[in-house]
Amino acid sequence: MSHQKIGIVGSGLIGRAWAMLFTSAGYRVQLYDILDIQIETALQELNKELHQLEQKGSLRGQLKAKEQFELISVTSKLEELVQNAVHIQECIPEKLELKQELYGKLDEILECGTIVASSTSTFMPSLYSKDLSKKQQMLVAHPLNPPYFIPLVEIVPAPWTSAEAVERTYDLMVSIGQRPVKLKREIQGFATNRIQYAILNEVWRLVGSGIMTVNDVDTVLSQGLGLRYALLGSLETAHLNAPGGVKDYFQRFGGEISAVSATYGPTPNTLKEEETLDDIAQQCEKIVPLDKLSARRATRDAFLTELAKLKKQF
Ligand code: NAD
Repeated sequence: MSHQKIGIVGSGLIGRAWAMLFTSAGYRVQLYDILDIQIETALQELNKELHQLEQKGSLRGQLKAKEQFELISVTSKLEELVQNAVHIQECIPEKLELKQELYGKLDEILECGTIVASSTSTFMPSLYSKDLSKKQQMLVAHPLNPPYFIPLVEIVPAPWTSAEAVERTYDLMVSIGQRPVKLKREIQGFATNRIQYAILNEVWRLVGSGIMTVNDVDTVLSQGLGLRYALLGSLETAHLNAPGGVKDYFQRFGGEISAVSATYGPTPNTLKEEETLDDIAQQCEKIVPLDKLSARRATRDAFLTELAKLKKQF
């Protein structure tokens, strides 16, 4: 169990989740935020959440909730945060100017052995690290929400990120029980959103063209494809779905895949297609009214906790 220090910048939803993941493996975590009230709230919420997880039997790691909470400290000084930190996980809002300003400050005070990983869902690391002197220590480590229950972390280097920074981040994520994947080079949307958007585009087209309802199109995933994908990726699924494995699969179905793919049509512009958006929103709100979103999120998290336990058996 490690007692090294991890710094977390931004104590909102994702910063708090990382704090719990790192303390579950015994790391000392220091939280920094520009708003004192956010830090106070974060501490209260973390204390509450760790104990709730413990009561439900879902607390990660070997330490008790109280012991994990005691590993968390706070600071209102960025200079203090970076001191002796092996890793800094940046979790500030998704605004490029904010990130650029923060990374500029970090560049001046960062120790040479510290890696800074951004939780950003959308910005390639080159966008905020380009002109910095310690840019080889900076990369993206993108979690999926809720990170406590979904282990995937996408590690995305900028062209100048050192191989050592990538490897150390990878090993760190493994050490806290997450499941990192490495992209060899940065690309817009990383891997998760590129795949997620391909799905969103097609379900948008199927609903927008009146072929399916929201409920039915979501059922295709939740009662169909998603069940397989909870265990296997799409390529291993293909590998199992033909007698001779994946080569046989694409030899048999490649023509059909190309023919169907040619009918997809243009990429939807979801910002401009207001009629489809209104229709989707109306149908979604019938399924889960806006005032029931929190309850549904809690159901999702409870399900993911059980699924994580089940996955461990396979
Ligand atoms: P959030 O709004 O919940 O929290 C952001 C926190 O950063 C706030 O506490 C805010 O006070 C603080 N902050 C703002 N400017 C700061 C600064 N200059 N220095 C220090 N603290 C500052 O946001 P979030 O949902 O936790 O998202 C954080 C990051 O994680 C974003 O980059 C986002 O893209 C990424 N992410 C979010 C999700 C998600 O589902 N919410 C999933 C994966 C990744």
